[in-house]
Amino acid sequence: MSNLYVDLEAPNGRKWSQPTGLFINNEFVPSSNGKLLESIDPATESKIAEVHAASAEDVDKAVQAAKAALVHDSWKNLPGTDRGILMSKLADLIEDNKELLATIDAWDNGKPYTVAMTDDLPEAIGTIRYYSGWADKISGQTISTTSAKFAYTLRQPIGVIGQIIPWNYPLSMAAWKLGPALACGNTVVLKAAEQTPLSILVLGTLIKKAGFPPGVVNFINGYGQEAGATLVQHPLVDKVAFTGSTATASQIMKSAAATLKNITLETGGKSPLLVFDDCDIEQAIKWSHLGIMSNQGQICTATSRIFVQDTIYESFVEKFKAQIQEVSKVGDQWDESTYQGPQVTKAQYDRILSYIDIGVSEGATVLTGGKRHGDGKGFFIQPTVFTNVKDSMRVFKEEIFGPVVTISSFESEDAVIRRANDSPYGLGASVFTKDLERAHRVAVEIEAGMVWVNSSQDCDFRIPFGGVKQSGVGRELGEAGLEAYTQTKAVHINMGNKL
Ligand code: NAD
Repeated sequence: MSNLYVDLEAPNGRKWSQPTGLFINNEFVPSSNGKLLESIDPATESKIAEVHAASAEDVDKAVQAAKAALVHDSWKNLPGTDRGILMSKLADLIEDNKELLATIDAWDNGKPYTVAMTDDLPEAIGTIRYYSGWADKISGQTISTTSAKFAYTLRQPIGVIGQIIPWNYPLSMAAWKLGPALACGNTVVLKAAEQTPLSILVLGTLIKKAGFPPGVVNFINGYGQEAGATLVQHPLVDKVAFTGSTATASQIMKSAAATLKNITLETGGKSPLLVFDDCDIEQAIKWSHLGIMSNQGQICTATSRIFVQDTIYESFVEKFKAQIQEVSKVGDQWDESTYQGPQVTKAQYDRILSYIDIGVSEGATVLTGGKRHGDGKGFFIQPTVFTNVKDSMRVFKEEIFGPVVTISSFESEDAVIRRANDSPYGLGASVFTKDLERAHRVAVEIEAGMVWVNSSQDCDFRIPFGGVKQSGVGRELGEAGLEAYTQTKAVHINMGNKL
C-alpha cells in the first residue's frame, strides 16, 4: 500500500503525505489497471505527483460502494440532524486544514495561494457548513383534498449521484456538489478534473475522519472520456451533476438519456458587463477588471464582454488599461503580490494564445497584452484587452476562459441589451448605473441566471447559482440547490371512503 501515498513538500515549505489512490469505501485503493495521471505545477511545468486514474472497472466499484451505502442502515436511517453533525464536522476539519488545502490547490492549479486562502477555502467551508444546517430542515407538505382523503409529500434522496467537477476551483466546486447531495441523504461518486487531482484526495481523508459511513462519499480521479463517461452511463447512477464546458455537457446529456437520468449542468458563458455613463466609473473599473482578470480569467461567469456607453468609452478604456498595469501583477502562486498566476495547463495556455491570434487576424486591436508573460517556464499570459471589436468576431462570441476581454461601445439601452442577449450563453451579467429604474429594467431584460448591479462575480452559498440557455440546466447553492437533490413522492391516504 506504500505506493498509495507520496511525501510532498510545496514551494511554500509545507510538507504532507499525499494520498494517490482512488477513495472508495473510505479507503485508498489502486486503480485496477495501474493507470496513472500526472499533476503538474503550471508555474514551473514540473511534475508534482502521479495519482491513480480510474478505469471503467474502478468506476463500477465506486458506484457499487455508493449504492450499498445508500441502503445501509448507517446512512439510510441516520436522522437528518446527525447527517448535519457529520457535515459540520467535515466543515470544521476543512477549516483546520485550510492552509494545507490552499497550498495544494495553489500548486496544482496555479492560482495565487492568497486567493485560495481568501476565496476558495472560505467558500468550500461555508458551503458545507450552510448545507449541514439544511440536513434536518428538508420536509414535504400536507395537502388537503376532500374530507374523505388527504395527501402528503415526502422529499426523498434521489440515490447515487455521479458528480463531475472542473479544475478552476477544485475544492469549492467539490463543496458545491457535496453539500446539497449529502444534506438530502444521497450517496456520491465524485470525479475531480484530471488537471487538479490532489486536494480531493486529502478531502477523502477528512471525510473518513469526520465519521461518514464507508461508501457515502467516493472520490475517483480519472480522464473524462473514460472515468467521466463511464460514470454518466452507469445504470446504478441516478443523477449526474456536472460543471465544465458546454460541449462536454451536451455529450453528457446525450449519454444520460439512455437511462433517463436526472441531470444538472453548469457550463460555459460569455457574460456581458454593461457600463452606462451615469455610473460610478471607479467602481465600474474595479469590478469589470476583477470580473475577467481574477482567477486567471478561468471563471465560468467571467464578464468577458464589456460594453461601455459611447460618451465615456475612451476614458473607460484608458482607465481599464491603467487598472491592469496597477493591479494585474503576473507571477507565481507563492508571491504575495501576485494577482494573476499561470493558466492551469499547457492546453489551456495554447488555447488562449490561439484565441488572441484569432482576434488579431479578425482585425481587432490589442490595446494591451497579447503575448505570453516572461520568457522562462510556466503557462503565463499577459492580461489582454481587445478594442475595435465587431460583434461577429470569434473573440467576442466564444468563451476563451483566460485573461482576455473585449471592450465595445454602445449608444442606447435597447441596443446594448439586444447585443448582450445575442449569445447562446446566459450565465451572468453586470450593469453599472446609478439609475435605479434602469438597473431593475436591465435585470429583468437581460438573459442570464445571475445579474450583478454595480458589481461582478458576487457568489454566495445562500444564493442560487446557474445559467439559462446553453449555460446550464438547474440551480446550485441556496435553498434552490436542494431541489436538485431530492425527489418528491406523493402519498394518498384514504380516510375510510369505501365507495
Ligand atoms: P471539460 O468540460 O472537458 O471538463 C470538465 C470535467 O468533465 C472534467 O472533470 C473532465 O474530466 C470531465 N469530462 C470530460 N469529458 C467528459 C465526458 N465525455 N463525460 C464525462 N465527463 C467528462 O472542460 P476542460 O477540457 O477542462 O476545459 C475546456 C473548456 O471548458 C474551458 O476552456 C472552458 O471554456 C470550459 N470550462 C468551464 C468551466 C466552468 O466552470 N463552467 C470549468 C472548466 C472549463
